[in-house]
Amino acid sequence: MVLAGGGLALGLGLWRARGMAAEAMGYGAAPDFGLAGALIQGGWARGQAPPGTSLLALAGKPAGVARDGRFFIAFDRDSAPRLQLSARLGDGRIVSQELTVAPRAWQIERIPIGPRPGTPPSEAYARLRSGELARINAARSVDHQVEGWRQQFIWPVYGRLSGKFGSQRIYNGTPGSYHSGLDIATGASGTPFVAPADGVVTLAASSPFSLEGRLLMIDHGMGLNSAFLHCSGHAVQEGDVVRQGQYIAQIGKTGRATGPHLHWSIKWRDFRLDPLLFVGPAAGL
Ligand SMILES: [Zn+2]
Repeated sequence: MVLAGGGLALGLGLWRARGMAAEAMGYGAAPDFGLAGALIQGGWARGQAPPGTSLLALAGKPAGVARDGRFFIAFDRDSAPRLQLSARLGDGRIVSQELTVAPRAWQIERIPIGPRPGTPPSEAYARLRSGELARINAARSVDHQVEGWRQQFIWPVYGRLSGKFGSQRIYNGTPGSYHSGLDIATGASGTPFVAPADGVVTLAASSPFSLEGRLLMIDHGMGLNSAFLHCSGHAVQEGDVVRQGQYIAQIGKTGRATGPHLHWSIKWRDFRLDPLLFVGPAAGL
């Protein structure tokens, strides 16, 4: 437990409130956020807010707190090594804890040539794409009262991991965008896969998006959501409530995909996360 940035004044305030117990513990005056999870780039944690928390913030940005005080936070692929988790209590006091987010060694491939010169997108494509992105952003902007964020996620399907989250190519010094999800290949289109956690279907593209193909998105609550790309078909519709383990769609190669695979990405608010850190290594892979 560390109090950082103004922690001394805060610690003294709490010391007065708690008297000898706090004194005996030195800086042990901050409440325990009870974090458990993967405090690492692309990872996440669940915790318990101090009693009376009216507002919780990670690096100054609000994070939700459930009625029972449980909360979910996560750490972007490129997260800073230290982040401040703060709670404002009912009486106005602010307590905080500095979190240490472990760095990752991302798979980086250096290509000694420049990026492929792309042809400028046509006006028609730009229009189409902005419509697709608007639907994706709209799907992510709604917070549903679902509890999937509390669950231990399960694998949507078992298969060969054909692409890691966070891997990146650097073309002659110019970084390309990194791989935003985990690719799972079963070698065939049509393989069914299931919901990794409870949620609400927020997007089920009936016609393929230009890159994502038949995209399916599920909101797990608290700002946490999954996207499943390149599906050959969906078994659910927008607005459906789905349960962990429920059959939701089939693997395909719609959109920009060289072969059939499931690209599974997870976001918490604006942060991109590593699905592998939600499910852990699977036996037999
Ligand atoms: Zn992918």
